[in-house]
Amino acid sequence: MGVKTDIQWSDSTINPTTGCEGCELWGPKTRVCYAGNLHETRLAKSMPLLYAADFSEVRVVAGRMTQAASWPDLRGKEREDKPWLNSYQRVIFVGDMGDFMSKDVPDDYIEHEIFGAIESRAGSRHFWLLLTKQIRRLAEFSINRGGLPDNCMAMTTVTNQHYADKRVPDLLKVECKWKGVSAEPLWDAVSLKQYLSEQEIHWVIIGGESEQRGVTPNPFELEWGRSLINECIDADVPAFVKQLGSRSFDGETPLTLRDSKGGDWSEWPEELQVREMPKLYPEVTLA
Ligand code: SF4
Repeated sequence: MGVKTDIQWSDSTINPTTGCEGCELWGPKTRVCYAGNLHETRLAKSMPLLYAADFSEVRVVAGRMTQAASWPDLRGKEREDKPWLNSYQRVIFVGDMGDFMSKDVPDDYIEHEIFGAIESRAGSRHFWLLLTKQIRRLAEFSINRGGLPDNCMAMTTVTNQHYADKRVPDLLKVECKWKGVSAEPLWDAVSLKQYLSEQEIHWVIIGGESEQRGVTPNPFELEWGRSLINECIDADVPAFVKQLGSRSFDGETPLTLRDSKGGDWSEWPEELQVREMPKLYPEVTLA
């Protein structure tokens, strides 16, 4: 979390909460969430007031969103390491270390702390990516407040077709101008064709799973990435391939990559070297 991040598709990350109610990546039997592992092995020990010993205990951290809103304006600034972000506002990913829509986060906190900062004068200089697996709650929340601000994108994650068919219909109900899907980590082939054709999804992130604490990561078939890219091309939706993961295969052949997460796109087949950002302009009004 911070003003700089290694995550290729954003400039910065911020976490208005710690902990998470869990998902298919984190529960009694599955412990492959990067955030959950880092939280329990390091953060809970070094900052016990902010991070509970158990990742499933959610805490709010007031003030962080305001801090992020105050970060310097990046409009017109070049990013040498992430040239695809040039011409964008500062792109801030909210919740890389937990899920701010977890059931224990009060509505009032979400409204005042999170959307208060996004809609503030300072916060409206940036673009905020709201990625949550609790997308049904975000949909209900957005309807109750009469819509989300135009300088944010509602996003959800899909790992396989089951979760795509469970979450994307709720994503489409969110009252927000911009909507995106993160298909990362992909655990199986996914088709988003029926949803992309509705022209309400503006961005698709694609990626394989990284290794966590010695747990063998799920494999990533390059064909899953190719197929999603082609669906995006057909629907004229920008796609962003983040990483091939720590265990990728091209057909039967395992790939040997120098980057342990498969995040160096110079190592990938050319057709997968796709890093497009959503077409926000000229619709987004700058503050
Ligand atoms: S919702 Fe996100 S932060 Fe929470 S367990 Fe799942 S992957 Fe981890």
